[in-house]
Amino acid sequence: MNIGENGHLFMGSIDIADIVQRTGTPVYIYDVATIERKIKQIQTSMHDKTELFYSLKANPNPSIVKLIYDAGANLEICSLLELEIAMQIKASPKRVLYLGPGKTKEEIRAVLEFGVEYFIIESFQELELINEMANRLKRKVKAGIRFNLNSSAKGSKLIMGGKPRQFGIDEEQAETLINTAEKMKNIMINGIHVYNGTRILQSDVLVDNTKYILEFAQKLYNKHPFNLQYVDIGGGMGIPYFKNEKELDFEQAAVSINQSIEEFHQKICKPIKILLESGRFIVGESGVYTTKVLYTKESKGVKFAITDGGTNHHMAAGGMGNALKKNFPLKTLNKMNKPLTEQYNIAGPLCTPNDVIAKRLETPALEPGDLIGIMNAGAYGLTASPVLFLSHFIPAEVLVKENKLKIIREKGQLTGVSACSLNELLEV
Ligand SMILES: *Cc1c(COP(=O)(O)O)cnc(C)c1O
Repeated sequence: MNIGENGHLFMGSIDIADIVQRTGTPVYIYDVATIERKIKQIQTSMHDKTELFYSLKANPNPSIVKLIYDAGANLEICSLLELEIAMQIKASPKRVLYLGPGKTKEEIRAVLEFGVEYFIIESFQELELINEMANRLKRKVKAGIRFNLNSSAKGSKLIMGGKPRQFGIDEEQAETLINTAEKMKNIMINGIHVYNGTRILQSDVLVDNTKYILEFAQKLYNKHPFNLQYVDIGGGMGIPYFKNEKELDFEQAAVSINQSIEEFHQKICKPIKILLESGRFIVGESGVYTTKVLYTKESKGVKFAITDGGTNHHMAAGGMGNALKKNFPLKTLNKMNKPLTEQYNIAGPLCTPNDVIAKRLETPALEPGDLIGIMNAGAYGLTASPVLFLSHFIPAEVLVKENKLKIIREKGQLTGVSACSLNELLEV
């Protein structure tokens, strides 16, 4: 992404105005180069026994999943439809991890049939159920256990561990669990999984988190050796959204994490695999949710710009149901080189006062037809939003690479989205 001489944002080498002329607004536009750069960044800085998993929940568009998979990341799925997407892009079961606190029998059956390599169990009852199901299938199922450890990422915005949680099994119950599982004929525990938090921007938090997980794994294994083949250290790497936030120094974190992995391998005398999960860090920065200003107006001294899409398509920009306190990074995409002389509240089309995606946003003077973009919108945008609220069309999604693009979801298309490969992108 860069800014052209005409002051427009360019995705790849294409003027954003040309893209929306083809697709209409509102539209999600994703830049392939950004996604590929992020994956490469992780791959080149992490220990070579590390395997990266992309969490589909961040952005499950099949074309995006395919491009991430083709770039070398494995897939982390949590539902039947996410499994379907993995199958649609012909992912190898060897490169798929499945987890979730509320797996149904139907889901478990489908996932076992597909044969995922990494099956993560989250409770004692689930352990029993899977043992029973495996027994009926006359199979032995290899599974990892998700643990809720006592230390969790301090700098994480959404703390998942160290508190009562519906996820995983508490650290205190680890030995009981291993003992219970060892008595089961059709289950073999072969992995440890921990996911502690999301939106981590401080490298030392990421490092401390990983150290704690690896120490836990080592202690459990040494006290009670079992067939440990992998430790999933979660991830939760963040990207900056707000003014006071700084980019995560991933390379710096990786140096220390790799050291911890080396030490871990020496202590347990086995170079076992380390799994790393990421959603936001891989796709977040690639996406721009692009809307058009329909009207501008003033109410009691406050200027408003009303756009054709809002929190129905990007809930997080509206502050997740809370009063909007901090603005997401929003830009006037066709006036990137104009001075920010005005302040506007940016409101979507919904009939609720909460449909405000920015308050007192500093912008150039706005007029109907201007393009307002929510930047860093590639993760938890469309699929983490109440798209049915007020029944506006679901926006199209577009993939851009250099001078080529392709619509990867038609406007209004809820299901049945197909996966394209990068060589199907067409020159503009
Ligand atoms: C949501 C989730 C992820 C992805 O989190 P990001 O912050 O987007 O990287 C990874 N693993 C698990 C278990 C998750 O629930």
